[in-house]
Amino acid sequence: MSGRLFIVSAPSGVGKTTIIQSVLPRWPKLRYSVSCTTRKPRAGEVSGRDYHFLSREAFLEGIQKGRFLEWAEVHGEYYGTDGNVVESWTQAGHDVLFDIDVQGARQVLSCHPTATTVFILPPSMASLEARLSGRGTESEAQLGKRLAAAAAEMAQAPWYDYLIVNDDLAEAVADFESILRAVRCRREYQVPQLRTLLTLPSPQQSK
Ligand code: ADP
Ligand code: 5GP
Repeated sequence: MSGRLFIVSAPSGVGKTTIIQSVLPRWPKLRYSVSCTTRKPRAGEVSGRDYHFLSREAFLEGIQKGRFLEWAEVHGEYYGTDGNVVESWTQAGHDVLFDIDVQGARQVLSCHPTATTVFILPPSMASLEARLSGRGTESEAQLGKRLAAAAAEMAQAPWYDYLIVNDDLAEAVADFESILRAVRCRREYQVPQLRTLLTLPSPQQSK
């Protein structure tokens, strides 16, 4: 059985990295898709763990060579998902979690329509602004660009399967984990287990 895909999108600063980082250690079968980007690393970000940081030339070459399952220009930088890595993980039965924007989500859905999509919302625009500026990672110009994009990104939220409001962090993490749990219990994923049960002799028969 190949693994399932989970896509998470949100405007910058809502807290999706924070939520994902709390969930990953508790879900050993869930692999995080480390994206490629041309954006510069922030303090504390590690290449290969947070992103694969590429030059523009290397990224454009990746596009030409068909390296990306999806890619998009977001806030003036390129971001993309390495298709080979995702395929090898899903074939090995791992679930894969993507932190990608709305453009990337549409591209992944076009080739993997059963992917589960989750959009994370801020409790208010004021708290989004406070979180993004409080993180202290963006220049004034970048901050303005990211806040200006937030409303257009949120306008895409209605076509996602699930919407989570990240007000209380622990609650948002619990909401996200309930989605993972519910998808794992879906009939189509449990059928192999059911088949095994049905082909076993019943306790009556084995007497
Ligand atoms: P994103 O990955 O969506 O850009 P981050 O995970 O980097 O956002 O979070 C942005 C900032 O908001 C961080 O400083 C983080 O600690 C803070 N944050 C995340 N979730 C909450 C929350 N529920 N309440 C208050 N602050 C939060
Ligand atoms: P950040 O620079 O804050 O890490 O990410 C900016 C935006 O780029 C976020 O909306 C994030 O979800 C998106 N992003 C990160 N990786 C990818 C990717 O591989 N593909 C796409 N399409 N978007 C990505």
